[in-house]
Amino acid sequence: MKSVLGEGSSTSAHGGGPPPRPSYGIGSSSEKQPLLGFVISSVYVVAHRKTLTTFAHPRMNSTCVIIGAGMTGLTAAQMLSARGLTVTLLEKSRGVGGRMATRRTDGGVFDQGAQFLTARTHSFMHMVEAWNREGLLRPWVANSAGVITQESDLVRYVGVPSMTAVPKHLARDRHLLLHHKVLRLDRENDHWVIGCEEGATLPATAVILTPPLPQSVEILNASGLELGSGLADELRSISYNSCIALMAALVGPSAVPPPGGASLGPEPVRWIADNHQKGIHTVEGTVTVHAGPAFSDAHYRDPDEVVRSLLLDAISPYLGSPVRMTQIHRWRYSEPRSTATRAAVLAVEHPPLLIAGDSFGGPRIEGAALSGLAAADLLASLIHGVSR
Ligand SMILES: Cc1cc2nc3c(=O)[nH]c(=O)nc-3n(C[C@H](O)[C@H](O)[C@H](O)COP(=O)(O)OP(=O)(O)OC[C@H]3O[C@@H](n4cnc5c(N)ncnc54)[C@H](O)[C@@H]3O)c2cc1C
Repeated sequence: MKSVLGEGSSTSAHGGGPPPRPSYGIGSSSEKQPLLGFVISSVYVVAHRKTLTTFAHPRMNSTCVIIGAGMTGLTAAQMLSARGLTVTLLEKSRGVGGRMATRRTDGGVFDQGAQFLTARTHSFMHMVEAWNREGLLRPWVANSAGVITQESDLVRYVGVPSMTAVPKHLARDRHLLLHHKVLRLDRENDHWVIGCEEGATLPATAVILTPPLPQSVEILNASGLELGSGLADELRSISYNSCIALMAALVGPSAVPPPGGASLGPEPVRWIADNHQKGIHTVEGTVTVHAGPAFSDAHYRDPDEVVRSLLLDAISPYLGSPVRMTQIHRWRYSEPRSTATRAAVLAVEHPPLLIAGDSFGGPRIEGAALSGLAAADLLASLIHGVSR
């Protein structure tokens, strides 16, 4: 078995090495420092757009809105809330986690996006250790017979019961609006007015954009917001690989070797995992397959049956049992091919608009978390006048 999906195979500017440290420091999130004009909020709200056209929060005039409830947005929300800001998360999907996604099907439960996480920096290791202690993660042992990557000494952690465990935990006690797809941002005096699909609007004193960068740029373009030429050029140069994921339920156990994950490829398949062996509470023979970037780009628009047949052929030695059900998911923006020079950027100063995500912090869960922390620290320092 060759190493490909192994995180070290990233084509980012950071190569296989550690992601850059964020430009802004990361410290304890336990301190509570009420900030001028902001109030502490610990309200958990999940609203559906069908029941809401204009959202009126009692203190909305002093709310920081984070667009996207993946690892970047959730980490930023946790840090800002801990620092006394009122935060609202807007998420277009019906759940949190973004690319840390678990799919529940009649055939079983599958991690369909990120498969495991690693920590290369002290800051993220602290977070990972806390999640591990709380039972949200467990180490997934890598040994010579198991997960083989270019950096096999790194501990891989998997979510318990699945990769959405940590995002769901971070979303607890957050003010979160699901089914809210943001289309545009309009500047009105000293605040932003956020326009969502189907007409919902929200005011915000500050905004952090965390979707994959091309989707954030779409929102900026729709809003007629122009960035400085240096920043615009840098962001334009960042593109993403796509990834086609195949979830296959088998009639019996798979032939994926213990501990249930293998880096293949690089093409047409880069990764295969047995979700049962990974410890997700699901039946035997529930396999996730990630196609390589070249295959995914070439076959992105092909019909499901074509993609399914090509991928099943490619993984036939790992199947071990006949296939009884398949589903396909297309990740348009799977991983950034390169990474910006800063862990988060201030795109507009008044009122503040920041952009963050894994294309800033690095092309992994860790990079997303570091970018969220950097964005939160930058925003807090702007409001508070000092950085921690
Ligand atoms: C197939 C695959 C395998 C991977 N494997 C690994 C791995 O093993 N280990 C690892 O560390 N990393 C892995 N990654 C990368 C990792 O998942 C990401 O780097 C990380 O999860 C990115 O988090 P994020 O919050 O920056 O972005 P996302 O998780 O993409 O979150 C952005 C959120 O914004 C929301 N959004 C987008 N547009 C809007 C809008 N207009 N309005 C409102 N909300 C919006 C999205 O729905 C999403 O929830 C993998 C990714 C993929 C796709």
